[in-house]
Amino acid sequence: KFITVEGVDGAGKSTQFEVIANALKERGIDFVMTREPGGPQSAEKIRELLLNEPMTAKCELLVMFAARQENLTKIIRPALEAGKWVLCDRFTDASVAYQGYGRGRSLEEIEMLANFVHPDIKPDKTVIFDLPTEVAAARLSRKLDRFEQEDADFHRRVRQGYLEIAKREPERCVVIDAQGTPEEVSARVLKEVETWV
Ligand code: C5P
Repeated sequence: KFITVEGVDGAGKSTQFEVIANALKERGIDFVMTREPGGPQSAEKIRELLLNEPMTAKCELLVMFAARQENLTKIIRPALEAGKWVLCDRFTDASVAYQGYGRGRSLEEIEMLANFVHPDIKPDKTVIFDLPTEVAAARLSRKLDRFEQEDADFHRRVRQGYLEIAKREPERCVVIDAQGTPEEVSARVLKEVETWV
C-alpha cells in the first residue's frame, strides 16, 4: 500500500506522520518512510534548493517533479515492488495544492507531469490534515521557509486546493480535522489507520 500524508503548513503534519508510522510499526507492517520534496540524497539536495532559492512557479513545479522522480526510482518503487508499504510525507497532491491552487500553475500541466513521472502509481490512501488558515499560521513559530512565508491568501488557496482534491476523490482521500490538541488529532488519525489493516 502507498499512503501519503498531506496538509497546509502548520497543520501538525510532522507530528501526526510519526503517529501513523508508530501505528504501522505496532501492527507489524513492513514499511518504508520518505518525504517530498526529498527522500534520497539527490532529492534532499533539490529540497534545499526549493526551500531556499526564489524561482519562477514553472521552475518550482518542474523541480518538484524532478525530485519526485528520484524519490520514486530510488525509494518508492523498489519498496512497493518488494511488497512493502510506503508512507510518504507529501506527494503529487502537494503539487496540485501548492504549485496549482497556490501559485496558479494549471492543473492540466500538473496532470501531464504526473502522467510523465508516475503514470502507474497513485496513493492508495491520502490523509489530509485540515484547519483554518489563521489557526495554522498561529502555530508556525519556528523559522519559516520560503513557502511558509507566503501570505494568508496563498495559504487559503492551498487549503482550498486540498479540499477540492478530497472532494474529487473521496475513496482515496480522508480529511482529518487538525484542530485541537495533538492527542485529539492523533485519536482521529488512529481511527483512520484502523480501517487500513
Ligand atoms: O512538508 P514540509 O513542511 O516538509 O514541506 C516543506 C515545504 O515545501 C512546505 O512549506 C510546503 O508548503 C512546501 N511544498 C510545496 N510544494 C510541494 C511540496 C512542498 O510548496 N509540492
